[in-house]
Amino acid sequence: MKIIVAKDAGYCFGVRDAVNIAYETTKKYGSIYMLGDIVHNEKVVADLAKAGTKVVENLEDIPSDSPILFRAHGTSTPVWEKAKSRNMDIIDATCPLVHEIHNEVKKLDKEGRHIIVVGDHGHDEVLGISSQVQNVLVIATPEEASKLPKMKRAGVVCQSTQTIENVQEIINILMTKVFDLHFVNTICFPTKRNQEQIKILAEKCDIMLIIGSFTSANSKRLTQLSSDINKNSYQVTCADDLNPDWFTGAKTIGISAGASTPDYIINEVKKKLKELGNKK
Ligand code: SF4
Repeated sequence: MKIIVAKDAGYCFGVRDAVNIAYETTKKYGSIYMLGDIVHNEKVVADLAKAGTKVVENLEDIPSDSPILFRAHGTSTPVWEKAKSRNMDIIDATCPLVHEIHNEVKKLDKEGRHIIVVGDHGHDEVLGISSQVQNVLVIATPEEASKLPKMKRAGVVCQSTQTIENVQEIINILMTKVFDLHFVNTICFPTKRNQEQIKILAEKCDIMLIIGSFTSANSKRLTQLSSDINKNSYQVTCADDLNPDWFTGAKTIGISAGASTPDYIINEVKKKLKELGNKK
């Protein structure tokens, strides 16, 4: 059984840096607080909790002498302002590519454009992007785009982990609705790269495994992209989820992983696959 792991499967640099910052800060201060989980991966969150990170829902739940870590996918403006007004010690782990999206939104807004964000409703990154300016429209699907009224001027950005296909479909519809449309493609380069790699792997492998939490939007999107090409695509959270029956007669197994999946989980899946291969 041949196992091919996508070259850039797993942690993107933004998540890797944020997780490292969380460990370093915890080591320095003994503990660190964050609003919500650092990444959408239960194992990473549990490992960090063991090291001393504490997850809370509100700024009020954080002791005044403890640092707060703002996560990779960004924090909404009201939360930033509140933390600053309370003189909190903010450790900013926001990915630079998310900061870039915030800046693009502000530029488009200054041009007098109605801002449209292509992204998942209620996702933290999308909430952060939308909070940069007033009156933002969030569009998740082509169906939602087709219900929009005609507009004179609009500026469009997207959540960093969107699929090119979804964004393209939405932009095609917006072209029929907006007279003066400025689209900035803010899908980040690690996402584009992972999506390209999984499409190639899904073509040439008998079985595809996508490793990632079911709470991770980008892992689910990778699974969808893979399933569209290869119906033998399975999303797993860890090695324990592997079902030996999937691999009967399979010669080539392709592996990719979401941006919040750590290397050690990918290695455990590879190891278990090798063991299964030796038994067959
Ligand atoms: S997915 Fe992209 S934007 Fe989000 S943290 Fe990773 S590199 Fe940054």
